[in-house]
Amino acid sequence: MAESLSISPDELHRRYEEEAQKRIQHGVRDYIDMVDIADSDFDRDPYAEPLERDALVEESDVVIIGAGWSGLTAAAYLTDQGVTDYKIIDKAGDFGGTWYWNRYPGCQCDVEAYTYLPLLERIGYMPKQKYATAPEIFAYAQLLGRTFDMYPHALFQTSVTGLVWSEERKRWRVTTTRDDVIDARFVVICGGVLHVAKLPGIPGVYDFAGPAFHTARWNYEVTGGGPEEFMDKLGDKVVGIIGTGATAVQAVPKLAEAAKELIVFQRTPSSVSPRNQRPTTPEEWAEITAEPGWHERRMENFIEGTLGMQPEVDLIQDGWTEMFHIDPKAPARNDEEARRFEEWDDLQMQKVRQRIADTVKDPETAEKLMPWYKISCKRPCFHDEYLPTFNRDNVKLVDTDGMGVDRITPNGVVVGDTEYPVDVLIYSTGFDNTSFYSHRLGFDPIGTGGVSLSEAWAKGMYSLHGTLADGFPNLLMNQALQGGQHINIAYASTKTSEHIAWIIATALEENVVIEADRPAEDDWFNYIIQSALPYFEYFANCTPGYLSNERKEADESMSRSACYMGSAVDFKRELEKWRSTNEMPGVVKTPL
Ligand code: NDP
Repeated sequence: MAESLSISPDELHRRYEEEAQKRIQHGVRDYIDMVDIADSDFDRDPYAEPLERDALVEESDVVIIGAGWSGLTAAAYLTDQGVTDYKIIDKAGDFGGTWYWNRYPGCQCDVEAYTYLPLLERIGYMPKQKYATAPEIFAYAQLLGRTFDMYPHALFQTSVTGLVWSEERKRWRVTTTRDDVIDARFVVICGGVLHVAKLPGIPGVYDFAGPAFHTARWNYEVTGGGPEEFMDKLGDKVVGIIGTGATAVQAVPKLAEAAKELIVFQRTPSSVSPRNQRPTTPEEWAEITAEPGWHERRMENFIEGTLGMQPEVDLIQDGWTEMFHIDPKAPARNDEEARRFEEWDDLQMQKVRQRIADTVKDPETAEKLMPWYKISCKRPCFHDEYLPTFNRDNVKLVDTDGMGVDRITPNGVVVGDTEYPVDVLIYSTGFDNTSFYSHRLGFDPIGTGGVSLSEAWAKGMYSLHGTLADGFPNLLMNQALQGGQHINIAYASTKTSEHIAWIIATALEENVVIEADRPAEDDWFNYIIQSALPYFEYFANCTPGYLSNERKEADESMSRSACYMGSAVDFKRELEKWRSTNEMPGVVKTPL
């Protein structure tokens, strides 16, 4: 066992805090996000064919903004409800959201496909492997689009520029980058959680002389190959990749196979546990799908299995359910439980570090790859080729000791006093999901009295279930803040879509305008903050990252952006209970 693995819990926790402090004190937590540089080459869509179309001037019952899982499932459930007069708008060239944009080599979903893919039982599709690849998931999104006949409703390669409520007409006016003007009774915002790619806010990002791109805009013209094909243009290239999160963990092994030399720039290492990918056999699939309702049960089983709820049978049996058989971030009921949680957390991270020590031959590199933080501070990763990649002669790890790369020059990447020349530079630097909601959307809805969402929420968010907001009639938001959340992101967003579709269909039938009532929003916030407060302490001691909100101290406004931290299954049940009253409690209805 490596020396650093046999330290006492006290020393371990001291080390965790020391590592976190390096990152906090260095203070390089600035990012440039794609909303701010939407016209730059970094944000160019490498996949879409050129599109010319006339501007639309129309009326519609519903406009859905965003065509990822939330938008797709909102459209599907609206169709189920008989609401078919809708448009679905997306900046991308097709359905899929994050799975449209993320086509980097090796990209796949870490949540098993049988659980992750929305509406799977209904569609009757058999995933090829336990963990679906990005091309398969993108194709599945397109299949959903075809199955529910969504393509005729879609406005792709189109971004919303404005959303203004007309008190007089009781409609939202939606305007777009293609000069469309659509007056809609209802608008559903399905902005997504990982849709605004970001670059590090360091000097020189625009100065690099060679090709540079973000992983969510992969440039196969430069690298050759494809998401599942060997990248045949990198054999004589030195490639630099900045970042070592879940994306880089998947892309690095593929880059290492193809590049003359690969330099991986690391600020904080990821935890990387075994993946155990395997094909789906028809026998296994028949067993999984034998009983009607299997998909819902499996999704719920995964949620329970990853929240330490220990369901009688673990249907998933993978790294997630093994690691979170006990959920150490959950509020402990007593000191004994707190101690058990801490021991479990330490043990899981110990296993992660031991795997590195056992796999990576050079002890110095192995030491640098070891994560020193608690298990839920950063999203855990699962991969079987990432760590062995560092045994290759053509791969170099440049660990920045928590400081991050300092700047980019026309030649390459600077860390401390050393410049590392590279031919191709890849930013695997993640997505903005901590800035203000309307900033990430790229437009600021203007509600009643001309008040914008950013004004209404200047001191924090107000909502009912994270979907309806006082001052924004007939506007429904599908997003995690004040809503449900889980590692299986598609679960809560699908349940929210179902909820939204029901609300719209009911309001259309009753011919009313709907709007959340402020006291109901207050009650909802009090409810979710009770669920979230006990988790704050865990994240307050984390290394910075988006899960710990970069470890910024939570003021009231930030606390109001908490998610419902109970189980996502309980969140679904809350919504179902609310709908079952048939009265929309906490909503003001005004006849049209
Ligand atoms: P992350 O935000 O997880 O990672 C960004 C990386 O860039 C981090 O390693 C970060 O370091 C690093 N970084 C940022 N700035 C600098 C800098 N100046 N110098 C050096 N390094 C820097 O983004 P990802 O795209 O990897 O993943 C985002 C999310 O997408 C995941 O958490 C997951 O939810 C989802 N995802 C899921 C996948 C799956 O299912 N398999 C695959 C890929 C993504 P630091 O950690 O210090 O901030």
